[in-house]
Amino acid sequence: MIISNLNPGNEIGASAWHVQVDRSSFLLDAGLHPKLEGRASVPMLDRLSGRDLDAVIISHCHYDHVAGLPLVLREFPRARVIMSELSSHLIERVLHNSANVMKRQREEKGLLDYPLYDNRQIEELSPLFEGFPCRSPLDCSFAMPEEMAGGAPRVTLYDAGHTLGACGTRIQTGAGEIFYTGDCSFQDQILLKGADFDGISPDVLIMETTRGAYDDSKTSVRAREVRRLREAILEVFQRGGSVLIPSFALGRTQEILAMLAVMTREGMIPRQPVHVGGLGKIFTEIYDGLIHKTRRNHTDLVLSRELNLVVQNVDKVRDLRLKTPRIFVVTAGMMNENTAAHELAIRFCSDPRHAIFFVGYADPSTPGGRLRDSVMSHPFHFSDRIPDLVRECEMRWFDITGHANRQELVDWALDVNPSHLVLAHGDPEARAWFSHRFQELEAPFTIHNPDAGEVLEIPDFPVSG
Ligand SMILES: [Zn+2]
Ligand SMILES: [Zn+2]
Repeated sequence: MIISNLNPGNEIGASAWHVQVDRSSFLLDAGLHPKLEGRASVPMLDRLSGRDLDAVIISHCHYDHVAGLPLVLREFPRARVIMSELSSHLIERVLHNSANVMKRQREEKGLLDYPLYDNRQIEELSPLFEGFPCRSPLDCSFAMPEEMAGGAPRVTLYDAGHTLGACGTRIQTGAGEIFYTGDCSFQDQILLKGADFDGISPDVLIMETTRGAYDDSKTSVRAREVRRLREAILEVFQRGGSVLIPSFALGRTQEILAMLAVMTREGMIPRQPVHVGGLGKIFTEIYDGLIHKTRRNHTDLVLSRELNLVVQNVDKVRDLRLKTPRIFVVTAGMMNENTAAHELAIRFCSDPRHAIFFVGYADPSTPGGRLRDSVMSHPFHFSDRIPDLVRECEMRWFDITGHANRQELVDWALDVNPSHLVLAHGDPEARAWFSHRFQELEAPFTIHNPDAGEVLEIPDFPVSG
């Protein structure tokens, strides 16, 4: 079997893995690189020239895993598009949003190759999207069955616990079995239950390594981090301040809203409007609509019913009064210019009663990352649009992640015990940590740490008997 890393960068970047096995050709994920612009952000599809693609399997609907799909389908219009049933409810929204963002960036930044695709194209592609329940095997016959060593390849999806619809992908063929984790969380989140990967025994494991460079031995207990955040919010309210929690629209936002809904139910905070971004509200309603199809906790917690969600945008927040305590779960993770989170951060910084709480990753080269690294009462560069800011408000960070901790991944991989482990979806230091750790532990498998564009040739594993 041949496995190619089509991520155009060496960082976490865009997920896109090509797998050629037993005459079948799969692409696992089709993301765009969030830190690169234009064509440079697209997976290295030229590596596939002259080959066919039987199916694209989407692990989940985050930008770095799915936003390149229309470009892949332009090159390979006959490929099947396979995802979990839950993801099939989200994917069009996510793609339309990235088309809209690209259209805006064309004007704002003068990026002339944007948009890479438009809304009409997404509508034309949408009949191709096939959603399947987890743990129900799907026989994919692409070539003549007699040409394949062990009959048609079989694809099965397994709940990955990372965000609504996220799944791991198992591909069983006559030439061996592969499992791709996508992004995964082993611990339960507030809403979503942890990954359900039991029963797999792959020859080749392609595993995410997002948190490899992060020593989370002190913060890895999610329940404790949630408790800290609840207490911190109460303290801000008691001094009459407002709270800003920048979060990604899909996943983080719903987890934070669930926490607020539980706090409201328990009478810890008064029932009040919760200010969210437009996309965050849309995804929250989709989460609500799919409660009974989702492996989750709080099955009676309908977020949009429990909370009075008020949609904010960049213009509205400029003149919003902040005299009484308010809570914002605003959906612009990196706090880029021309977002509500950016405007709110400027307003929050000058008032010591307010607080900004980060609950996930913030890239140090973005306004969000610079704010996170700022020192109280010292000027810092927030964004190019405004003079340096001085932060007088409280700012804290809580480790409420949707990704597995590195130690959990190490233990799990040793338990699964594949013949080959491919380190995926991590910055170079993160992958290096895993590589080093497995060597220290004398793990019995071969470790691969492929760079951008690298091709791995892995021997076949013929089925016995
Ligand atoms: Zn993700
Ligand atoms: Zn990811």
